[in-house]
This record gives sequence, structure tokens and C-alpha cells, in this order.
Amino acid sequence: MGEDNRRLWAEWVAREIGGDETRQQTALAAAMQVLQTGGPVTDASNAARAAVGAAPAPPPVTYFQAAGTRCRFCGSVPAVPMTIYEHNGYLILMTFKNLKGPFCRYCGLNVWRRMTDATLLRGWLGMFSFFIAPVTALINVVNLSKLTSLPAPDPSSAMRPPADPGAGLFRRPGVYVYIGVIAIVLIYFALVVSR
Ligand SMILES: [Zn+2]
Repeated sequence: MGEDNRRLWAEWVAREIGGDETRQQTALAAAMQVLQTGGPVTDASNAARAAVGAAPAPPPVTYFQAAGTRCRFCGSVPAVPMTIYEHNGYLILMTFKNLKGPFCRYCGLNVWRRMTDATLLRGWLGMFSFFIAPVTALINVVNLSKLTSLPAPDPSSAMRPPADPGAGLFRRPGVYVYIGVIAIVLIYFALVVSR
């Protein structure tokens, strides 16, 4: 269960259930429990409501017609099952992160842009990470077409609003930092070879 997922659900609880902090924590815990056992997003939101005695949400009209994969963050269709990766190097230590879908187009792009940018920004900082980070970013790039081939999520299918996709990858710092790093490494080797 990723931190991102937990944060999005906490926002959902605050908006849809509200009340004091104890009430929201109880509802969030109930939702997390369902999700951790692999339950669908609709069961999780109903468990959250039931845990604090709130009335269950009426299912959207399209719910029973719209078979298929739903976004795990907002419940929208269409959604695509995929995994998005992030790598971070800390000189000697390193961390591998991933977030599994299914994602709708907007929630998926939100996660993809944040995790790919983080990988390019600081992922390469380490002996092994220097080689792992570009491979990680490349895997994300190869998988991007799964998200971009999806149409926008159907608003009537959403259990809550999809995430904001945010600024594109080329309007974030990671790409430019990474190009700078590669340029410095190439210049260094060119100088070494020319001696
Ligand atoms: Zn979504």
C-alpha cells in the first residue's frame, strides 16, 4: 500500500465523510483494510462509510453497466492495469518504489509524471543507481502509451474526482538535471581520453 494511495484516500475521507480527526482516521483505516486485502475501490469506500455509521453512497447509474477495470484511486473507467516505477539513489543506499494500478488517464499521468521526474532528478545519485535510474525511466516511458491511449475518465463513473495530471515531464526539472549530468559525465570522459 503506497503512501500516495493513502494520501489520496485521506483526502477522499476528509471530503466525503468529514467530521473530527478520530472519525476520519476510523474511516480511513477501514478503507485501507479493504484495499490491502485486494478489495475493489467501491468496497473500500463503503467500508469507510460503514465504519463511522454513514449511509452508503448510492451506486452511480452507470456502475452496473460499466463493466471492466476501474481506477484504484478514483474508481473511474476506463482504466488500465500497469505499474509505475521510481528509483532513488543516495550515494550508497538506494530505494526502489513502484505504484500498481489500475489507473485512469488523469490519476495515472499524475503518478507517472511525479515518479519519472523524481527518478531523473535524483535517481542516478549512486554507483549502481547511475545505471538503474535511466532503465527505470525508460520502462516508464515505454509504458506511457498505455495511459495516453486512454480517453479521459468518464465523470459519471468516478467515486471521487480523478487527480490533476499536473505539468508535463518537460515542464519539470528532472529531464534538464539529467541532461546536465550526462553532459558532465561525457565531458569528463572526453577530457580523460584526450590526455
Ligand atoms: Zn483515477
